Amino acid sequence: MPIFEYQCRKCKTIFEHLVIPTTTDKATCPKCKSKGKNLEPVISMFATKQDHVTSRHMDWVKKESNNLKYERMQTEKRLASED
Ligand SMILES: [Zn+2]
Repeated sequence: MPIFEYQCRKCKTIFEHLVIPTTTDKATCPKCKSKGKNLEPVISMFATKQDHVTSRHMDWVKKESNNLKYERMQTEKRLASED
């Protein structure tokens, strides 16, 4: 899952938030419980200025899709041999 960093505008706490696309889970400051507009994203998926972040994210995406491919292959193999 992609992890985004946020900085709380109220207490300046920087924290990481795991983004789970299937939930409506929103980031909340762990210190003062601020959320929404009080939080400034430090990293975003579209932050092309931060190349190291983008490439790290791409590595993660690549790794995850390879894992999925591998799992699917294993499942197909198993199904084929079960017949
Ligand atoms: Zn805060």
